[in-house]
Formats: sequence, C-alpha cells, structure tokens
Amino acid sequence: MKSIWSDTCSFKPRESFKNDLVVDTVVVGAGMAGLLTAYLLNQQGVRVVVLEGSVTASGVTKNTTGKITSQHDLFYDSLIQKFGLELAEQYALANQRALQAYRDIIQEHHIDCELENKPAYVYTLRDPAKIEAEVTAAGRLGIEADYTTQADDLPFPIKAAVRFRNQAQFHPLKFLKYIAENLEIYEHTMVREIRNNQVITDHGRVTADHIVVTTHFPIINVPGWYFARMHQERSYVLALENAARLDGMYIDEDSAGYSFRDYGDYLLLGGAGHRTGKHPETSCYEQLRHAARSFYPQSREAYHWSAQDCVSWDEVPYIGSYSPSMPNIYVATGFKKWGMTSSMVSAMILSDQILGKKNDCADVFSPRRFNASASMKNLISDLGHSIVGLTSGALSAPGRRCAHLGCRLQWNPDEETWDCPCHGSRFTGDGKLINDPATKGLKNG
Ligand SMILES: Cc1cc2nc3c(=O)[nH]c(=O)nc-3n(C[C@H](O)[C@H](O)[C@H](O)COP(=O)(O)OP(=O)(O)OC[C@H]3O[C@@H](n4cnc5c(N)ncnc54)[C@H](O)[C@@H]3O)c2cc1C
Repeated sequence: MKSIWSDTCSFKPRESFKNDLVVDTVVVGAGMAGLLTAYLLNQQGVRVVVLEGSVTASGVTKNTTGKITSQHDLFYDSLIQKFGLELAEQYALANQRALQAYRDIIQEHHIDCELENKPAYVYTLRDPAKIEAEVTAAGRLGIEADYTTQADDLPFPIKAAVRFRNQAQFHPLKFLKYIAENLEIYEHTMVREIRNNQVITDHGRVTADHIVVTTHFPIINVPGWYFARMHQERSYVLALENAARLDGMYIDEDSAGYSFRDYGDYLLLGGAGHRTGKHPETSCYEQLRHAARSFYPQSREAYHWSAQDCVSWDEVPYIGSYSPSMPNIYVATGFKKWGMTSSMVSAMILSDQILGKKNDCADVFSPRRFNASASMKNLISDLGHSIVGLTSGALSAPGRRCAHLGCRLQWNPDEETWDCPCHGSRFTGDGKLINDPATKGLKNG
C-alpha cells in the first residue's frame, strides 16, 4: 500500500539518461539526502546531475514519518560516553542547524509542505533515570531539553519523558517536490559501476570531478566496507482516522514501543520494528492494529506501510569521503530512522567538502572511523547466515540466497517479500529486487 505521503503528492516524470555527459558533480540516488545535496550545490552555481535508478523519492524517503528533530531516541548521553563531549557537540549542533535550514528554505521559498512546529518527546514506561541522564546530556550540548511526567495527549500514562521544544513535522514529499523542481534528474537510470571519476549506467556514463553516493545503502562494497559496518532495521506504520490530535511528536525509548505523530486528521502510529530479515513469528501490522484498537477503539485504518533504514555499529551516520583511496567520491548513509535532519546534515557537510570549505561539524560523521571488532562480529554473523542450515528458521527457504553476498533469505509474511538478515536487501516473492544493497534480482526468482 502507498504511504500517506505518496498518495497525496506526485512528481513530474523525468527522462532516463541516454548520452555521455561531463559535469562538476554527479549525485547517485534521488532521495532526501541526494536531492538536498544536489540542491545546495546547485544554489552555489555547481553543475550537478542526479541519476536515479527508479523514480524521484521512491526509496525510504516516501515511507518516512517526516519528523524533523535533533532528538534521535535516547542518544546524547551514550554519544557523550562513546565519542566525548567535543564530537557529541558537533552532532547536536549539526542536527540543530539542519532543523533550522529546513525552516529557512521553507520560509524563504514559501514551500507549502505543512510544516508545523511541535515539541518532540522520548518517553519511558519504566525507567525515569534514563530520561534524567538524557536531559542532563542534552543540556551539556546546548539543547533546550526538559524533564516531564506529563504527556496528556498520549492514550496511556508515562513514567517520564525528555522534551525537546521547537522541533517540527512536515509532509516530506511536498517539500522534496519543490527541491527537485529545478534539478537535472534522470530517472530509470541505474548506476551499475563507479570507476575513478566516472559513473556508468546502461546507456552512457557521466564524468565528474565529484561523485556523491546517496543510494541509501552504499553501492560499492570494497573499498568502504559499509556492508561490514551497518545493518538495516524495518518499521511499520498505520495512519488512523478518528484517533486523536497531538500537541507533540512521541517515541518510546524502548524499541518494542510505539511512535506517534499526527498529520491533519490522521494519527500515524509506528512501531513493531525488527532487524530486516528477522521478522517475528507474528504479523507486525497485526501488532500495530492490536495497539490501535486498544489505544483508539473508535479509530479506522486508512493507510499502512513499512520501510527500513541503515544503522551503523556506533549509531552515528557515515557522511564524508567514501574511502581514503577514493577522495573524490562521497557517501551519506546510516541514518538509523532519523534521516530528515541527517539528510540535511549530509547535504551541508558534503556540499562544503565539494566546494573546499571547512565544515566544523564534519569530524563526528567521518566514515574513516572503523571498529575492527564490530566489523568482524558482523562478518562472522553474515557468514553464519550464508552457511546452509546454520541459521535457517521456519521461514527460510533452502536455496534462496541474496544476490548481494549470498546470505540465506528469510520470508517476510507482512510484505510477502524475501528479506536478507545480513545487509537488508529485499526481493519480491518472485525474486525481483526491491531494496539495495543488492543490485540485481534473484537468479531463480
Ligand atoms: C518507518 C520509518 C520512519 C521514519 N521516520 C523518520 C522520521 O520521522 N524522521 C526522520 O528524521 N527520519 C525518519 N526515517 C528515516 C528517513 O526516512 C530515512 O533515513 C531517509 O528517508 C533516507 O533517505 P535517503 O535519501 O538516504 O534514502 P532513499 O530515500 O532510499 O533514497 C535513495 C535513492 O537511491 C536510489 N538508488 C539506489 N541504488 C541506486 C543505483 N544503483 N543507481 C541509481 N539510484 C539508486 C533509490 O532508488 C532511492 O530513490 C524513518 C525511516 C523509517 C524506515
């Protein structure tokens, strides 16, 4: 089923790429990250083309919940502990600037994308101490955050919540439609290979000084090794009519909990998340429907959809140079379901780097950080998934292996798809490719 965003906004179709071209910068992937990067460069007079394998905004971006916030779950306390105060400050500042950049662009160009200012809350039903620690950490990083036990518009009592004031929500595709309007975008143009300063498609190549890979999951396996440094997580969303209007945007600190935002007369209830390829035995949509019936018995389901996002081993996105051996190629990935601000952060950092300007928040996101033991753990787990019988559960099919690196696929009964537990590629029941990092369908599909 279409998301509420796709059902209420469409983009003008673009031609596919047919000839060879020489430009300053080529962006691969027309989602929020790629289009914002192209837009900021374009504003600075850089000649940019965008190559999109499918159509504009057809990836994760069309299935987001569209909250624009520097509050990324309970995160800042652990970020300070893992990265230290200085790098954590960069992360917070970059995301606050990103939120402001959305406001500035929307205001300056009068973009009708239903931007609404709302506070963002992470609530707990169990452990107020975690909330206290987050409020303190946010305060140390200059974020206006407070502790509250009130969330009267939620359908259940909470123990405590951290509130970030002055955050926002919008219609992501109405915003992106404006951003895309004057960009040179080629659709149905799958990039097959990137070689030195050339991007190769089935019908021609683009030669560029700078190449930006915003394909959600990076498409070059080696160098970069992103497949060993990330996994993907799916989540499910219901849009409910006749449920409730909310003063804020809410998410449970417990990953088994729910998220809430409203959009006009609809309430978006999200949750039932799991690592891609590790679908639970019960239906994720049914779990959400059960919650909807109990929270809002009078409500009616109008839309349902799901999507997945990349999560890096330390939960900080990778934004910057793709690899030390590829200084003219850039990447933006690993947004862990906070890709609205992270896409804007990516666009600001990458456009500065391409224009040779210093960005004082870039270091924390540098893809050069590498954790050998985390990567090794991932590789060993991948190996387990690829060995026959080792991990095959009731839902895996003998012989069905991912077209990316050969891991054994799992059946997702909610979406009727084959999903890869290693890196999150997905395929239709008859083997057609839905989600990268795989670049082709299943052989026997
Ligand atoms: C359920 C859910 C809810 C979310 N809610 C929020 C939220 O409320 N707030 C928030 O901040 N974030 C949220 N996120 C995260 C956010 O939606 C994503 O991080 C963001 O949309 C990712 O944008 P992107 O541009 O990186 O990827 P995409 O939108 O997936 O764009 C990548 C594009 O690259 C194209 N592509 C891939 N391979 C190739 C190739 N070889 N050649 C050419 N093109 C290619 C694809 O077709 C696609 O169009 C949510 C995520 C999920 C899963």
